[in-house]
Amino acid sequence: MAVLVIADHDGSVVRDTTHKTVTAALALSPDVDVLVLGKNAKGVADAAAKISGVRKVLLAEGDAVAHGLAEAVEASVLPLAGNYDAILTPANTDGKNFAPRIAAKLDTAPISDIVEVVSGDTFVRPIYAGNALETVQSADAKKVITVRPTAFAAAAEGGSASVETVVAGEAPKTAFVSEEMVKSDRPELGAAKIVVSGGRALGSAEEFHAVMDPLADKLGAAVGASRAAVDAGYAPNDYQVGQTGKVVAPALYIAIGISGAIQHLAGMKDSKVIVAINKDADAPIFQVADYGLVADYKTAVPELMAALG
Ligand code: FAD
Repeated sequence: MAVLVIADHDGSVVRDTTHKTVTAALALSPDVDVLVLGKNAKGVADAAAKISGVRKVLLAEGDAVAHGLAEAVEASVLPLAGNYDAILTPANTDGKNFAPRIAAKLDTAPISDIVEVVSGDTFVRPIYAGNALETVQSADAKKVITVRPTAFAAAAEGGSASVETVVAGEAPKTAFVSEEMVKSDRPELGAAKIVVSGGRALGSAEEFHAVMDPLADKLGAAVGASRAAVDAGYAPNDYQVGQTGKVVAPALYIAIGISGAIQHLAGMKDSKVIVAINKDADAPIFQVADYGLVADYKTAVPELMAALG
């Protein structure tokens, strides 16, 4: 059984979601190759070759695959699919976009968001916003799987795989138009060791940033938000943590003015240490919090800032 991992990268750095997906792939087979799609992505391929356990890196470069268009990813992967029994990629925005497309073209059922590999055909995945885990067995010969990165440890560095060039696919009916990237010196939300998240209680965009940004900077943390805060325009979309946002599992998650709705918990309850500040002692967030402070954030956060020095 050979496995292909489609790498997640930002054009210059291999994200650790790739390392984590390699760990899941190695639980399926010792024969794990990594496909790097991009433009001028040789450096990324060389970095992927250093992931321990990787047999070979396939590098497909071209304009069409420079921006992760699902059609171009699919056109790049399909000619390679015959060599692999399983194709894995992180369950992030891109993976959720192109994996079902690849699965449909291969006439196989996609298996999404796995958190455990039980055997070569059996996997565990969360359902009902993480309230239950289901074990699924696939009868398909070829499997297309998205992997929840927070559920797997990152494969170590130390590999020395070869890098081979393959042909990148085209997407004749789709064109990349533009993208707006949020520039930030803070760590990426999905990879940050500390996340501070704000909720509806913050009340306005000005207040959200005035409270959350200095705290995040003091802790070297990423900023997250509840959907209520995002929907109200207090925080940008890409801050959203939860069922329909990002799934995070940092060492420390601080929830400020967040009630702890089930859909929010789905995105953060696997954090190692959860701290909640909420003025309602009955808020559901306290049921998952390791440390809960029943307090108004307006007094608690300045006190925390002062204590941090
Ligand atoms: P609220 O529930 O309004 O809670 C605000 C909290 O702040 C309250 O507990 C209150 O006691 C506290 N508070 C108020 N003032 C203060 C103060 N001064 N100091 C301290 N505490 C204070 N939500 C997500 O977060 N992420 C998702 O991905 C997501 N996906 C969803 C998907 C679906 C299909 C649906 C139906 C819902 C989804 N939601 C999601 C929404 C979710 O159900 C909740 O509505 C949302 O999480 C509530 O956000 P909140 O906790 O900020 O707001």
